[in-house]
Amino acid sequence: MILNMSRTGLKIAALAGDGIGPEVMREALKVLRAVEKQFDLRLEVTEAPVGWAGIDAAGQALPPATLELCRRSAAILFGSVGLPQRDPSLPKEQRPERAALLRLRKEFNLFANLRPVKLLPELAHTCPLRPERQGAGVDILVVRELTAGLYFGQPKTTETVEEQVPGQAEPLRYRRAVDTMATNSLEIERIAHVAFQAARQRRRKLTSIDKANVLENGVLWREVVTEVGRQYPDVALEHMFVDNGAMQLLLRPDQFDVLLCENTFGDILSDEAAALAGSLGMLPSASLGRTDGALTFGLYEPAGGTAPDIAGKNLANPIAQILSAALMLRLSFGLEAAAAAIERAVREVIVAGYRTGDVFSAAQAGTRKVGTAEIGDAIAAAIRA
Ligand code: NAD
Repeated sequence: MILNMSRTGLKIAALAGDGIGPEVMREALKVLRAVEKQFDLRLEVTEAPVGWAGIDAAGQALPPATLELCRRSAAILFGSVGLPQRDPSLPKEQRPERAALLRLRKEFNLFANLRPVKLLPELAHTCPLRPERQGAGVDILVVRELTAGLYFGQPKTTETVEEQVPGQAEPLRYRRAVDTMATNSLEIERIAHVAFQAARQRRRKLTSIDKANVLENGVLWREVVTEVGRQYPDVALEHMFVDNGAMQLLLRPDQFDVLLCENTFGDILSDEAAALAGSLGMLPSASLGRTDGALTFGLYEPAGGTAPDIAGKNLANPIAQILSAALMLRLSFGLEAAAAAIERAVREVIVAGYRTGDVFSAAQAGTRKVGTAEIGDAIAAAIRA
């Protein structure tokens, strides 16, 4: 992998994709331009097609030229890919999510998935929990291992079994599926370091999720996370079984700061946590690979998908994409002040009453329903102000 920070600027591949992807990407690039000017940065953004846009332009969900651009870049700002009406026309391995997104994760060994879930107090009405359950507020960082565990372990098969049962003339025939859950200590160590380091930038509490009471994987996970934790005595470490974790998220979400999970548990709990923030349109994510010197290669994308139901109507909330760009500046380029300026601008615009349809409530006084471009303009203007 080549990490590139040439004199010409910080190289970013912007892959908007399908559905609402191009609309929300447009706003994120608008905000990046504002921050570039304000902080005197040089961002070299190159756009390229991916997903159905890639298939239509160059016959593949991840065209070779797009992949090559990603290799020459230090970060990928990704929209979303896939269109439910068109996807079934292709064999599974050629469909956009698998052929583009999973391929990029594999190509760049993106092992650490970070999903900050923050419910802004002004949007507390979008949270499905009653106000008294929200407590001090929802502000959780889910750190999920993305390349090991149940989703990748081998063997992974479905077979037809014939079994002779005593006392029965005919053999019993049935189908059997096998998935393998396998994780090694090196994989656990590197994701644990990411989580502990993130906790140091936050409230210094880490809850590690496992199923150590039943799974060998869970026992190893707990052991290794505990060992790594000794290097971070300033971070309070607790362990929680995944079933209890799922329950605690709904009962008392404000007890969590950083939630460290293996792949499958992280997939489920990060979506559960996301529901607490009300709308997918507010949630960014980062998937990080290896670090070369000061730069960490990462893919940054909104938590949601292509939202075909609202695509092309100027209805999508671009904030998830805009906050993904902020994460990119912070985690791949170390530009903390610029990242914080974007987050502050988003907050200011929400405080000022701007709302896209997904977070709008007619009952909230002083708020106004706006479109994708208008809220993007307001956030860019707040950065310049
Ligand atoms: P989705 O996330 O696209 O939409 C779910 C609901 O959330 C919809 O009602 C949608 O309108 C709403 N929503 C999502 N993002 C929003 C935003 N920014 N602003 C306002 N509302 C928003 O999930 P889906 O409908 O299950 O999937 C649609 C397509 O997206 C499918 O083809 C799926 O495979 C794909 N997908 C892609 C990714 C990705 O590229 N990473 C992730 C998830 C789904």
